Amino acid sequence: MNAAVEYWVGSVDPRTHLFDVTMTVAQPEAQQQVSLPVWIPGSYMVREFARHLQHLSARQGKRALSIQALNKNTWVIDAKPGQALVLRYQVYAFDPSVRAAYLDAKRGFFNGTSVCLLADGQRDRPHAITVQRPKACPDWQVATGLTAQRVNARGWGRYLAADYDELIDAPFEWGPFWSGDFVAGGVPHRLVVTGAAASFDAQRLLDDTQRICTAAIRMWHGHGKPPHRRYVFLLHVVEDGYGGLEHRNSTALICGRRDLPRLGSKASSEGYITLLGLISHEYFHTWNVKRLRPAEFARHDLNTENHTELLWFFEGFTSYFDDLLLVRAGLLEPQAYLDRLAKTITAVEQTPGRKVQSVAQASFDAWTKYYRQDENTPNATVSYYAKGALLALCLDLALRAEGSDLAAVMRGLWKRCAAGPMRESDLLAELEAQTGRSWATEIATWAHSTADLPLARLLRAQGVMIDTEKAPLAQRLGLRASDGASGVMVKSVLRGGAAEQAGMAAGDEWLAVEVGQGKRAQTWRLKKLDDLPLFLGTAQRCRALVNRDQRLYWMNLKWPQLASNWSLSAEDDLKGWL
Ligand SMILES: [Zn+2]
Repeated sequence: MNAAVEYWVGSVDPRTHLFDVTMTVAQPEAQQQVSLPVWIPGSYMVREFARHLQHLSARQGKRALSIQALNKNTWVIDAKPGQALVLRYQVYAFDPSVRAAYLDAKRGFFNGTSVCLLADGQRDRPHAITVQRPKACPDWQVATGLTAQRVNARGWGRYLAADYDELIDAPFEWGPFWSGDFVAGGVPHRLVVTGAAASFDAQRLLDDTQRICTAAIRMWHGHGKPPHRRYVFLLHVVEDGYGGLEHRNSTALICGRRDLPRLGSKASSEGYITLLGLISHEYFHTWNVKRLRPAEFARHDLNTENHTELLWFFEGFTSYFDDLLLVRAGLLEPQAYLDRLAKTITAVEQTPGRKVQSVAQASFDAWTKYYRQDENTPNATVSYYAKGALLALCLDLALRAEGSDLAAVMRGLWKRCAAGPMRESDLLAELEAQTGRSWATEIATWAHSTADLPLARLLRAQGVMIDTEKAPLAQRLGLRASDGASGVMVKSVLRGGAAEQAGMAAGDEWLAVEVGQGKRAQTWRLKKLDDLPLFLGTAQRCRALVNRDQRLYWMNLKWPQLASNWSLSAEDDLKGWL
């Protein structure tokens, strides 16, 4: 296949963290513009990938062309039509996340959004990329979701994409990785794991991933076929980390080394369940956000923020189904599921920002709030993941009471929107089609207001018993804190809480507590947050010594015993829900 735009990506010396890129535009325009995206779809933050691009040069034949920068991520090249335009540049790659690019002598990883310039006027035409093995890395292999056209046994060679958007929706992993294969829904899947220790039980992760994929395909298509013809999981194992980014037929994941299943052990650690939940989450996005997607994402504007009010649907509902599918796949016991659900409910309830923003507003502001978290985040916004998942739970339970369920609504939406762009009105229409009544009031209240969700009523009706247990002391004090080098560091002071009343501020170093009064007063040096209950016992007030900007202050703390955590348990079979 002839490509309108061709890229060659290699590295003369991976130790420099520099990818060397050559790009050919077969039929350039006069004054050809090229640009690099400022964000990567799926991660809603402007990241300015062009800041890592350098040594851009351009030629037609032997003629060097002049290049002018138009703005932070766009250049115009003085090209002439009728002759191929060849660009060369380097990209500095030292970002260990799933969102950008990384290269050293041990491993390479990149997204097209970091490495592949977009040629203006060519976006919808075929693109090809040839990946070239660095000379010093003879044992490296290649993995990607793109279609291989001409590659060797290790995957080095030429890959094709129907257009630029497909090209940048398929990250590449380079390195001496482990990989395994399985079939789910009649479709080949590949699991690629980089950085695991010798204790890693690869077969178990492969089997469990297959069960998750099978459960997801069953939910969407019964015994029919999924929308992708092949799928690749790229899992990077690190000392301590967590994250994932969804793509149309692949995903890039990061997990902690201790969270992998171990040879000779059948136990499922909390960390392993969280990893399986991440795998389930990103795989579910194959349907929900990569195909069925916000109308605003019908065609991404890669030069600026793309706002949508619907991330509560695309991230929240995906978060609801990720753990639910683990139960369906037999990987999570119903009680363990309820324990994880209780944690989510507690987290949302203890976020003062839930009274400031609706999940629709939180979705719209994701670019400047959720993705740019600071000490004020818990007071200013609510997670559209967590509250969105609880909204999905409420809908599922309410639908079940009327003879339908949320999975049926998702399948209905898939058909209604032809696996493409979707609006909130489509969700309302599908809910009405499933039940014969309007759900406008529920969606208005749950998604567009700051009213609390009717969780207790709906869970009890489903057969779930609700208990409460006393919240941790930090929560009752109204602060979020962590252990610092010499004291407890205050990270956030929660709106309306005891710490705010006392005058504490984010950044304060909490050094000591004084408990009791008069002759009975005791003053303790506070070094760890976990020591607080030790010193405070059943007291409901104390004096706190804090360090702020080299000055020491005593502050009077007085807190309620009221704050509580949720705990859930099941009476019977939960009426077919779990
Ligand atoms: Zn997600």
